[in-house]
Amino acid sequence: MTDSIERVLFTEEQVAARIAEVGTEISEKYRGRDVKLIGVLKGSIFFLTALARAITIPVKIDFLAISSFGGASKSASRGMVRIAKDLDEPIEDEDVLLVEDIVDTGLTTRYLLQTLAGRGPRSLGICTLLDRTVRRIVQVPVDFRCFEIPDRFVVGCGLDHKQLYRNLPFIAVLKPGTEESLATSASRKSIP
Ligand code: 5GP
Repeated sequence: MTDSIERVLFTEEQVAARIAEVGTEISEKYRGRDVKLIGVLKGSIFFLTALARAITIPVKIDFLAISSFGGASKSASRGMVRIAKDLDEPIEDEDVLLVEDIVDTGLTTRYLLQTLAGRGPRSLGICTLLDRTVRRIVQVPVDFRCFEIPDRFVVGCGLDHKQLYRNLPFIAVLKPGTEESLATSASRKSIP
């Protein structure tokens, strides 16, 4: 599997250290309250698990899954998004943190924010492992971010290519030819 990797952007140690820092930031910001982490399946599960362990205040966890139609990927940049698996519990009056693997164009995150905001949480924030602001199409308020990344398709720490590489403990760029084309995804945008 590592034959397809061009370079490692962030090592396992760097990822762990940064998640620990962000966990501390979150614990301080929400001190005296509980925080509900909402993970977006499947990409955010590794990050959410590590993050939850790094947070020292009480944490609740719930998950949702999205799927796209009109495109080949779950990314909103490939087509329209809908919720394929909803949360198990309501979020009314809760301090909610949407936990993302990556915010790229921002379209998926914006859709999820709008959907969750309509359910009356006490607060609603965004925490992402990776942020690629260079490709942003819609502005979304990212409250906590571990790493800013360049304009290359990445895998590892939950992020996949054709469902593989999620279990890599580092963030890596794939060799040309094996990577997903970000340019292709950008040209197929279709969003409400
Ligand atoms: P957005 O709607 O922000 O453009 O897309 C967010 C989703 O696109 C992410 O949750 C992720 O599933 C997918 N995505 C965007 N960039 C990458 C990338 O570099 N690598 C992987 N594996 N997925 C990506």
